[in-house]
Parts: sequence; C-alpha cells; structure tokens
Amino acid sequence: MAADSFDEECDYLFKAVLIGDSAVGKSNLLSRFAKDEFHLDSKPTIGVEFAYRNVKVGDKVIKAQIWDTAGQERFRAITSSYYRGALGALLVYDITRRETFEHLKKWLYELREFGCSDMVVVLVGNKCDLGSSREVNLEDGQSLAQLEGLLFLETSAKENLNVEDAFNQMIAKIHEVTSQKSL
Ligand code: GDP
Repeated sequence: MAADSFDEECDYLFKAVLIGDSAVGKSNLLSRFAKDEFHLDSKPTIGVEFAYRNVKVGDKVIKAQIWDTAGQERFRAITSSYYRGALGALLVYDITRRETFEHLKKWLYELREFGCSDMVVVLVGNKCDLGSSREVNLEDGQSLAQLEGLLFLETSAKENLNVEDAFNQMIAKIHEVTSQKSL
C-alpha cells in the first residue's frame, strides 16, 4: 500500500465517506491517512472536504476519494448528496464517549437510507490511546459489528494505530465487492 499523488494513473476510483458524531476524530483519521498529520485542535483544516490517496490492492491501483463531513453533522446538515456514489464508509465513534456509540444506530439508519445497498462499512472505535477514559468496551464494538455485518477496528489517529488498516480494509473490501459484481 502506498500514498501517491493525485495525478498518478489508477485502475479504479472509489468514493467513500466518513460519518459519526462531532469530535470523534473523523477529520484526524482522514488527515492521518491522506497526509500523515494529526491536529490537537478540534478543527483540523485539511483544506478540502475530501482527500485522495492511492492504494495498491493486488496489482491494481485504487484511487480512494474520501469525503469528510467537515463539521456539517453539528448542524444535521449532511444531505443525501454526501452519500451519493459512495461505495464505502468509515462509521466512527469515540471509545471515551458512550453517547457517540449509542448514536451509531442513527448513523446506520441514515447510511442504509441514503447509501448504496452493498456499501462496505467499517465500524471504527477511535481514540484507543485514551484507554483509561474508556466508556465503550472492545467487546461492545465487536458485538455491534457482528450484529450489523460490519468490519471493525479500534484506532488512534493520534498515535497512528490501525488507521491505515481501517481505510485499507475498507478499500480492499470495496474492490472485492465491485470485482464480484462485474463478473
Ligand atoms: P471530527 O469532528 O469527528 O472530525 O473530530 P476531529 O478530527 O476534529 O477531532 C476532535 C478532537 O479529538 C480533536 O481535538 C483531536 O485532536 C482529538 N482526536 C482525534 N483523534 C484522536 C485520537 O485518536 N486520540 C486522541 N487522544 N485525540 C484525538
């Protein structure tokens, strides 16, 4: 897997979205993945509402276009166009704030209403570096993922733990799903 420039040739272009409550770390997960940056303040400016990163899956180069809510969820202003064309989603909660986990059902409902029927969803429990403030057990995340048929990982955008894996697993799975469909 490698990060490359926007202009590099690619075999496929996939759109994916980040969703979840405010301040769970969505923007920082994206800036870590796309630029290997982390921001301590609550408004990291990645400059745009989406970022690109090229990822190699087998012998194919996939350009992942990842959309960030850019704070829109604060105003309940995410529209169906955000989800349009998205083949995958990272559904993020904060392991130190139980309510962000409780709200996942609402996000899943929205995903299923607006997203495509076979969207690949990775459930992400972020801020796992803050284990002493944990309010959501690892097992709770695992059980929900199993129940809802999601991939699951705990991550730390701050310490760069499992961030690559979360995005890469989503991208590889999208590739698998779309390859099967085109057979
Ligand atoms: P968003 O609103 O979901 O996009 O969340 P942000 O990416 O803006 O992050 C909200 C706050 O959480 C910021 O102060 C970040 O520095 C902090 N943050 C994000 N990810 C992590 C993490 O993995 N660990 C810790 N300790 N803080 C994080």
